[in-house]
Amino acid sequence: MKADSDKLIATDRRHIWHPYSAFASDLPIYAVESAQGVRIKLVDGRELIDGMSSWWCAIHGYNHPEMNAALSAQLARMSHVMFGGLTHEPAVKLANQLVEITPEVLQSVFFADSGSVSVEVAMKMAIQYWNAKRQASKQKFLTIRYGYHGDTFGAMSVTDPVNGMHSLFSEALAQQYFADTPGCGFGAACSETDIAPLQQLLEAHRNSIAAVILEPIVQGAGGMRFYSAEYLRRVSELCTEHDVLLIVDEIATGFGRTGKLFACEHADIAPDIMCIGKALTGGYMTLAATLTTGEVSQTISNGDPGVFMHGPTFMANPLACTAANASIDLLLESPWQQNIANIETGLRRGLQPCSDLNSVKDVRVLGAIGVVELHDPVDMKTIQPMFVDAGVWIRPFGRLVYLMPPFIINDAELGILTEAVYQVLSSY
Ligand SMILES: *Cc1c(COP(=O)(O)O)cnc(C)c1O
Repeated sequence: MKADSDKLIATDRRHIWHPYSAFASDLPIYAVESAQGVRIKLVDGRELIDGMSSWWCAIHGYNHPEMNAALSAQLARMSHVMFGGLTHEPAVKLANQLVEITPEVLQSVFFADSGSVSVEVAMKMAIQYWNAKRQASKQKFLTIRYGYHGDTFGAMSVTDPVNGMHSLFSEALAQQYFADTPGCGFGAACSETDIAPLQQLLEAHRNSIAAVILEPIVQGAGGMRFYSAEYLRRVSELCTEHDVLLIVDEIATGFGRTGKLFACEHADIAPDIMCIGKALTGGYMTLAATLTTGEVSQTISNGDPGVFMHGPTFMANPLACTAANASIDLLLESPWQQNIANIETGLRRGLQPCSDLNSVKDVRVLGAIGVVELHDPVDMKTIQPMFVDAGVWIRPFGRLVYLMPPFIINDAELGILTEAVYQVLSSY
């Protein structure tokens, strides 16, 4: 009820940090009682249709009976054991499944506890690989502008320098190479002008670059931009040509969101290293993984010091692996391509009217991702309560109002989300 909600929020404001927020800020915050299917129930009694999948994660919606049953069964066996010197069925099953569903060259799996950590692991793998090949000078990374790879220091160093506030951390961050982001949108051809910035940096610095790292096709938190599959294909060719590894960060795009199981399939490329996270456990708990080729893992293991230098305490947590196994089974057993195609159609139809609004710069849709880009940043203090009053959970950032609903959403619920975006942006 309202009083319970106010009490929770008051204590929250006294003691808790939220993502990218000021302490004790006066921005609105809402207390959640429970969540079921595509609905989030607030402590104050209101119910919201979820347009965010809790940041790309909750692809099957919330409180899924099959996910719950799998987790209860695992909980009765064990919730955790250390992974040094021990292994278990949930991890083995998951590794097998991941090797099966990702590009064929990817044969080994490192379990990490969050997306950011899986990026750190990927970067360390690339450095150790070249070190083992007696090319120890290859320790830098090349990426494109508007990228986002996480909040730890290695991941921050390859995140967009402006969005990531590199100036603030200049003495602490590794200096990497940034190429202009390609101008060619998804479905468009890629010209020499689009690829030239990255190509020039590769040619000039190939002896110091361990890997190119980028988000395939969709750049998420750095700007919600979609780029050409041909660009990704060219990047992959250039990496091979210049003896540089390719790391694709599929943490946001993986598990069907863009219409393919993994976004790199749009370009039909095989990376040397792939990071996955977010929807991996269907939004139940934190787990990520870094996959690599037999060539990279063998080279690292045959080199000096003969081991890969990383090992988190909660590595391959059995509960998290069980959630991932259940989530992947659910996804693969569902008509996910059809579901995502339906969502794509509904997003296009429902968000199209927004292009007529003066405040709107661009409307774009790919798979189960719908983006309305505005000319100016939104005022969260005003806009957030408007969405909640409209009965939806939509969380804009900067100039971007976007939807990425759970894959189980139906047409009527999706219509409520898109209509809320149009109505709020019209009256805002
Ligand atoms: C969210 C995200 C990360 C970071 O994952 P965390 O689990 O938040 O550490 C890295 N890369 C991409 C593309 C992401 O979307």
